[in-house]
Amino acid sequence: LPADFQAALPVLEKIEQAGFEAYFVGGSVRDHILGLAIHDVDIATSAYPEEIKEIFKRTVDTGIQHGTVTVLMGDDSYEITTFRTESGYQDYRRPDKVTFVRSLADDLKRRDFTINALAVDKNGEVIDKFDGLKDLDQKIIRAVGHAEERFHEDALRMMRAVRFQAQLNFKIEEKTAQAIADNAPLLAKIAIERIREEFVKMMLSQNWQTGLADFVKLGLSEYCPGFKDQKLELAELLEVKDTEFVDEEAAFSAIGYVLSLNHQEFNEFLRDWKVSNKTREASLNTLNLLHLFESQDFDLWNIYKLGVDNLDRTLELSKMFQIEFDYTDLSQKVDQISIKSSHDLQLTGKNVCEILDVKPGPIIGKSMSQMERAVVEGNVSNNFDDLRHYLLSNQ
Ligand code: ATP
Ligand code: MG
Repeated sequence: LPADFQAALPVLEKIEQAGFEAYFVGGSVRDHILGLAIHDVDIATSAYPEEIKEIFKRTVDTGIQHGTVTVLMGDDSYEITTFRTESGYQDYRRPDKVTFVRSLADDLKRRDFTINALAVDKNGEVIDKFDGLKDLDQKIIRAVGHAEERFHEDALRMMRAVRFQAQLNFKIEEKTAQAIADNAPLLAKIAIERIREEFVKMMLSQNWQTGLADFVKLGLSEYCPGFKDQKLELAELLEVKDTEFVDEEAAFSAIGYVLSLNHQEFNEFLRDWKVSNKTREASLNTLNLLHLFESQDFDLWNIYKLGVDNLDRTLELSKMFQIEFDYTDLSQKVDQISIKSSHDLQLTGKNVCEILDVKPGPIIGKSMSQMERAVVEGNVSNNFDDLRHYLLSNQ
């Protein structure tokens, strides 16, 4: 057993001593068998949530209606989920009914892919009801049971398939792929936040192009915001040199670039994907910077306004799209910029009031941004006396 499982072993043992079954399940089992780093260790058990809470002193009801209780042990915490089956799925997204069961086999049956339907017991024995080990070995993503039905139950699984494909560099098995192609329109039923989570995980994976290729080919892209009838444009991303995206903002900016979105269109696109305001602003600025690079427009004030923080990401993207520009010229200019924001100015708004002998008002802001621009463009150095002089001589 790997160290992460070893550390969690007392949890399994305690549950078993109380007369129930408990196993390691899900992504940690898959990643352990693949020799990858494990993040959160998930445990599945025949004990009901109330029974788990009787066994352990320190617990948190993380998702008790779905059967999940978090157990705290020392500095570690473990999510323990009761074996369950799901039924209903009237709306292609969530089960109408979750039923707790006592059988591991029933629990494994409801899981999405064979490689995610493995369990490991306290002795390290692997329980493999659906040939998940063989699929792991052959690098195949295959739905558990009847693919068509499984995607009808929960259409998000189609996004998970291309996400795992990108993360693991696996192939989607033929029937599973066909079922995705046939049921792609069901993706429209899924909340964009959940689609985005899988999409971003896919784009930030090492083999994102493999996932993206099937995301487009199998028609999932058609049912995502801004991607309708954009297969050819998206396919441009499959042509670029295979480099990784440094962050979510880089991935979205690259998409804005190949879709040739202007500022307003890109803003709407990002709103439709419901990204955070922070991500939206950084992505918008990154795409703007990329367009400046492309037009060799290295106006210092423009670059500064778009955020020096976005430069590294933009440089990565310009390499990806082989945008040619005078790098030395740009970096020399950027090095000249001596402040990050107006907060770095050595003269404050309060100083402005005193020097000009005025009351706080719009003039303060105006003077501050005047000085900010002058410092950025190198027309005055950022020290109190020079700024004071500049302020007085520019009234
Ligand atoms: P990650 O490494 O990203 O955490 P994971 O496989 O652990 O990958 P989770 O979303 O954490 O993915 O889910 C844990 C397990 O729960 C999965 O391995 C799978 O067995 C099951 N699962 C998760 N989402 C679904 C779903 N939509 N349909 C069926 N089973 C699912
Ligand atoms: Mg997980």
